[in-house]
Amino acid sequence: MTQQPFRVLPALDDDNEFFWTSGADGRLRFMRCQVCGYYLHPPSPWCPECSGTEVAPEPVSGRGRVHSFTVNHQSWDGGSEPYAIVLVELEEQAGLRLTSNLVGGDLGVIEIGRKVRVVFEERDGIFFPLFELVPT
Ligand SMILES: [Zn+2]
Repeated sequence: MTQQPFRVLPALDDDNEFFWTSGADGRLRFMRCQVCGYYLHPPSPWCPECSGTEVAPEPVSGRGRVHSFTVNHQSWDGGSEPYAIVLVELEEQAGLRLTSNLVGGDLGVIEIGRKVRVVFEERDGIFFPLFELVPT
């Protein structure tokens, strides 16, 4: 079994709690402008597109594509295996991107543009949104 990587638990506040607990029901959520429909990430109390202040968390598909990635081979803690840091662009909106880790796949086959989908890893009530490759 692969050792689970160390993860820093985020500090929850009123603005980000929905994001880190969203995976409890298996859905990824982003703050979305209720006026024009623009997704906001990181969460913001107002919309940069229309300056609207009616924003609320809404679920997204969890599907996206690898926008950029890097594979880390340095074992900082002496035991972990190489892992991939991915910048995923969600299919809902150009520019809606999330920095995460790729899990459950062969790191050698990652490439820009590959389809991925969200999976969650729960630690102490925090649901980390991670991504896995969608089989081609
Ligand atoms: Zn808006």
